[in-house]
Amino acid sequence: MKHNAPRHIGIMMIIAAAAAIGLAVASTRHAVQRETTGGAPVTLPAEETVMPEPSLPATDETAATEVSAETASPAAAGGLPFEPVLDVPAVPAAYRGTIVRQRTRHFPHRILALTFDDGPSPTVTPQILDTLREYNARATFFVLGQNVRKWPEIVRQAADEGHAIGHHSYSHPSKTNPEQAAKEMAQTTEAIIEATGRAPELFRPPYGITDGNLCRTAREQGFTVILWTISSADTTSIGPEIIASNVIYTPNPGDIVLMHDSGGNSKTAEALPRILKELSIAGFEFVTIPHLLGAWEEWKKQADT
Ligand SMILES: [Zn+2]
Repeated sequence: MKHNAPRHIGIMMIIAAAAAIGLAVASTRHAVQRETTGGAPVTLPAEETVMPEPSLPATDETAATEVSAETASPAAAGGLPFEPVLDVPAVPAAYRGTIVRQRTRHFPHRILALTFDDGPSPTVTPQILDTLREYNARATFFVLGQNVRKWPEIVRQAADEGHAIGHHSYSHPSKTNPEQAAKEMAQTTEAIIEATGRAPELFRPPYGITDGNLCRTAREQGFTVILWTISSADTTSIGPEIIASNVIYTPNPGDIVLMHDSGGNSKTAEALPRILKELSIAGFEFVTIPHLLGAWEEWKKQADT
């Protein structure tokens, strides 16, 4: 066990509590997700990107230990980090149709959300899954529909191992007309449901483009659009050591890290063990995007009271 230090337990209880809320919602998620992917359009928030910023917390680190055993999951009360939280919670309702492009400020908990785009790849993704398992880390994979069609078993494995599966379009276009956008969205959603049995709730636009038809369609369908707050720069021609350093030396609690697991990104897979090892030593835990959003929401509630 790499995460059994007592100081982690408070954080894990917060996460577990957020997950418990998510699990409560999860019982209705099939109905909700059908609505998000094929039902009535949702009303887009007027402020598309800026989530409400909570005031500075009046609490200190002790806040993390104030979750009662009743609200934490039974497994968390037993002190087992991550293993009980295999089911990825639903995205908090406040984030539906929004664009997340910045970290929630002053967030105190040392959790990070690693994200991998453009996969799955039959060579790189299994290697990344092995490393994540070794470090008991969870991540989010923003998959391309055309790759899900080719390697659905890898996507299913990622979901089964507790990772979140997000939508990254079907063919990674830089520009689409409304009809193409609708097709890209529908084809990929369908491929993900067939591979995992669960509809995606998260969308990352190709190239991070948020003003095109794809992103607009995704938001209208209720997807939460997730950008990133740290880039590993792993699509440039740099080696695994620099990729690792780009992530290791910059994170703040609650950051979202951009990485890639497409076929050409074996250097990313090579960089990952060092990233997980050094950031674990620095006290960071690795969670899915829905877990991170749930933890943000929990903390905002604490900060507001
Ligand atoms: Zn991409």
